[in-house]
Amino acid sequence: MITEIGNQTIEQHRPPKEELDANKPYLFLHEEEIQFDGSLKSVNTIFLTNKECPFKCVMCDLWRHTLDMPTPIGAIPRQIEYALKRLPKSSVIKLYNSGNFFDGRAIPFADYKEIAKLLRDFDHVVVENHPKLIGNKISDFKNMLSGTFEVAMGLETIHPVVMPKLNKQITKVNFSTAVSFLRDLDIIVRAFVLLNPPFLKGVAENREWCLKSVEFAFDTGVSACSIIPTRGGNGIMELLEEGGDFNPPTLEELENVYDDSLRLKKGLVYCDLWDLEKFSSCMECFKPRRKRLETMNVTQKILPRIECSCHGISETDRDN
Ligand code: SF4
Ligand SMILES: [Zn+2]
Repeated sequence: MITEIGNQTIEQHRPPKEELDANKPYLFLHEEEIQFDGSLKSVNTIFLTNKECPFKCVMCDLWRHTLDMPTPIGAIPRQIEYALKRLPKSSVIKLYNSGNFFDGRAIPFADYKEIAKLLRDFDHVVVENHPKLIGNKISDFKNMLSGTFEVAMGLETIHPVVMPKLNKQITKVNFSTAVSFLRDLDIIVRAFVLLNPPFLKGVAENREWCLKSVEFAFDTGVSACSIIPTRGGNGIMELLEEGGDFNPPTLEELENVYDDSLRLKKGLVYCDLWDLEKFSSCMECFKPRRKRLETMNVTQKILPRIECSCHGISETDRDN
């Protein structure tokens, strides 16, 4: 059993990074998302190519699509232009940068004006950032925007033993301080919460702590929570899985905690559907179950479960 993992061990186990072009985003997509006023709006999400996040969380694989060097000035506006030329119109834009928007080595401060100019037609802008990186640059950027502004931050889990082990270097206090700071600036906040983070064992415990973390996030003042089923794929997570310190959730476990979180009725809850097939073990019901979660994401209503013979089979039986 591994008790503590630091930056060096995490980096040692990494597979190679992807080769990236600093003038192109590594991905962009168009989707629909329910908003705080209950309206359904079209959203363009651009995954920016930029300097790697200075934190090294145990479960993170976002570094795979990042640069080792500081992002050159002008590259981010070029990436946004590149994606917007190829995306349909939308009213909301998410600029996700596999790290922290307010890290000047990732998104150069000198580019803020140009970025804001490119975003002038959007009603709402969402970026992501680490809870410890709060400061004046946030209000500087917000004041350049014409629409509303939202910051997404990883809370991950509030489990007292697991939270410090994730190497994210935050506490519950850091998170709630960051939320208060942003709310005082009239910035909307969303939280990322993990289901089955590494080092947390037991199906019931994982469900309980995921729900507790969602509740805590809402109590600090966030308006939305995204539940992320924890994935392997970054090297160290495979090692943890082999040693029994990481158990990826099943689709059913994700469905359970998503239902629980919607039942709280404390705010919007999204279920992250990226690579969802990784959590499914039945080809027969996967598609309708994915569709159910997709619909719940946009309606925020709990739908009846999809019936399938596989639900009667235990996980151990399925593995054999
Ligand atoms: S703060 Fe976010 S991007 Fe940075 S290492 Fe942690 S999970 Fe990855
Ligand atoms: Zn099935």
